[in-house]
Amino acid sequence: MNPPAQPVDVLIATTNRGKVAEIRALASQRSDAKAPGGLARVRWRSLDEFPAVIESPEHGRTLEQNARQKALHYAAATGLMTLADDSGLEVDALAGRPGVDSAYFAGVPRDDAANNRKLAAALCGVAAERRTARFRCALALALGDDVLFECTGHVEGRIVDPPRGENGFGYDPHFLVPELGRTLAELPPDEKNRLSHRGRALRIMLQWLDERLRQRA
Ligand code: IMP
Repeated sequence: MNPPAQPVDVLIATTNRGKVAEIRALASQRSDAKAPGGLARVRWRSLDEFPAVIESPEHGRTLEQNARQKALHYAAATGLMTLADDSGLEVDALAGRPGVDSAYFAGVPRDDAANNRKLAAALCGVAAERRTARFRCALALALGDDVLFECTGHVEGRIVDPPRGENGFGYDPHFLVPELGRTLAELPPDEKNRLSHRGRALRIMLQWLDERLRQRA
C-alpha cells in the first residue's frame, strides 16, 4: 500500500482575512475537495503567521507583474509555495485607468470613498454606453525562484452614478453587472464570489493546483 500523501503548505500572500477565507471556502466547496492526493492535502497559510517578513514591493505596471513580484518575494522569504494576487478596475473611457493604481486612485492613504468620488467625477458627462469597464484579477503561484502557474479572471460591467448597494468594498457600488441589473454592492457575498474576477481566477488556479498535486502525490 502507498504511504499517505504528505500535506502541502501554500501561503496566501495577504493579511486580508476576507481573501484568506474566500480562498479556503472556494477550495473546500469544490466537488473533489475531499478526494485524497489533491487540494485536500493543502494547508492554507497566511501572511499573518509571518509578521517578520518584509512587505513586498509592488512596482509593476500591470496586475500580472505585481502578482508575480509578490508571489516570488514571499516564496523567497518563507520557503513556501506562495499564491499572490493583484486586482484592479479598468475603465475603457479612462484608457484602462485606474488599473494597477485602483487602490490609490485618489492618493495615499487608500480611501475607497475618495476613489469613488474621483471615478464619478472623471466620468461625469460620459454617456451610459461608453461607461464600459471590467474588474481584472491576476494570480501567480511561485515556489523558490519559479513561477509555477499564472492566470487571470475578469468580470465585465458598466460604471453607474449614483452608487448603489451596501455590500462589498472599493468600487462595488459603482459597478453594474448588466445581465443582473445590479451593482456588485447589491449582490450577496456568495453571488459576488461566484461571478467576480477573483472568484473566476481562483477557480482556474485551484483546478491547476489540484491536478499538479495529484500528479505528485
Ligand atoms: P487588491 O489587489 O485586491 O488589493 O485590489 C486593489 C484595489 O482594486 C482595491 O483597493 C479596490 O480599490 C479595487 N478592487 C479590487 N477588487 C475589487 C472588488 O472586488 N470590488 C471593488 N473594488 C475592487
